[in-house]
Amino acid sequence: MSKITMTTPLVEMDGDEMTRILWKMIKDELLLPYVDLKTEYYDLGLEHRNETNDQVTIDSAEATKKYGVAVKCATITPNAAIVEEYNLKEMWKSPNGTIRAALDGTVFRAPIVVKGIEPCVKNWEKPITLARHAYGDVYKNSEIRVPSAGKAELVFTGEDGTEIRETIHTFTGAGIIQGIHNTDKSIESFARCCFNYALDTKQDLWFATKDTISKKYDHRFKDIFQEIYDAEYDDKFQAAGIEYFYTLIDDAVARVMKAKGGFIWACKNYDGDVMSDMVSSAFGSLAMMTSVLVSPEGYYEYEAAHGTVQRHYYKHLKGEETSTNSVATIFAWTGALRKRGELDNLPELQKFADALEAATLETIESGKMTKDLALITSLENPTPLSSEGFIKAIRETLDAKLA
Ligand code: NAP
Ligand code: MG
Repeated sequence: MSKITMTTPLVEMDGDEMTRILWKMIKDELLLPYVDLKTEYYDLGLEHRNETNDQVTIDSAEATKKYGVAVKCATITPNAAIVEEYNLKEMWKSPNGTIRAALDGTVFRAPIVVKGIEPCVKNWEKPITLARHAYGDVYKNSEIRVPSAGKAELVFTGEDGTEIRETIHTFTGAGIIQGIHNTDKSIESFARCCFNYALDTKQDLWFATKDTISKKYDHRFKDIFQEIYDAEYDDKFQAAGIEYFYTLIDDAVARVMKAKGGFIWACKNYDGDVMSDMVSSAFGSLAMMTSVLVSPEGYYEYEAAHGTVQRHYYKHLKGEETSTNSVATIFAWTGALRKRGELDNLPELQKFADALEAATLETIESGKMTKDLALITSLENPTPLSSEGFIKAIRETLDAKLA
């Protein structure tokens, strides 16, 4: 069989620990035998980030703007213990944060749904994709612990010196205050990313805030979404047969629990932080969540939602067998290859991505899976496999499919 050709390179961002081990296995077993893989390789492994003073992360983000599509392995975000362990020059920032800031993007997380791994919520038949606004609100706040009685005010001073002043509260004793902000520009980017992604994946878009209580702050989110929708997206949504739906956050939460799935739920920063963990754990496993960063210009960066699975890596280093789930990392690759195929008009590449995803799911449905899934599956007598054994089993299914 001749290998599938590619015309434009994918930006490949390698990473750390156990996921770095899986990365190589996936390439060797499931990609290189079938695809004449063209990538521009960036090593985001912590040692190399340290050697380059993190320049490699910035370069990889710039390359994503140049080529449009990237695939990323999980990476270590250093903390004090890691700085010591790896003897780092500095506590380098989270690569995901750096890339997100460079692309001004929104992260969409979706569960991979497979027979045998049932969501806790019985009526969820299709995936629920969660879009989290990644800028501002409580994540960029200033807070004061009020020591005693006194007046708290909100003051804005314009560049020309004009002031807007609001009393927050007149304290009669100790208390707390918090100042948060967002910008029209960031909310507009968020809205466009969500509308584009809904069109791209042909799913309805839900958005919710607490605008009845927050009549200026949350209401601004609601208005910006509606203005952009009316001006730029109404026709396109109608043509695609999908819907934009705004409601109150309480109503959204209640409806999500009763829904069948198959839509995108856009959330403000805090709601997205909290709700994405609820949705992902209710769908079964973090190891079955994909994540894609989409910029308003239409650049895509695909990755698994989980981290570097350090505990498994330390077992691997001791020479012990591991059973680490590679599904989300495989789907990061298939997502990126499919998008590359779409942009470059390479139907063979898109078909290959579909086939590899189908082979992965069929392998699990036949009972062959890693231990994390074997523990929660509703299938009887599953066969738990090692990290490598599982990838080899997918290859067998894929070969049978492609033959
Ligand atoms: P983690 O790597 O996601 O792992 C947490 C636990 O979840 C694992 O110990 C394992 O449970 C289970 N798990 C996660 N993925 C799995 C998989 N593919 N297969 C089987 N089990 C899986 O999170 P963490 O331990 O909090 O973070 C480790 C490192 O990853 C940190 O340096 C963190 O900064 C980084 N991180 C990176 C990203 C990213 O690059 N996008 C995201 C999150 C975290 P058991 O141990 O019980 O088997
Ligand atoms: Mg969270």
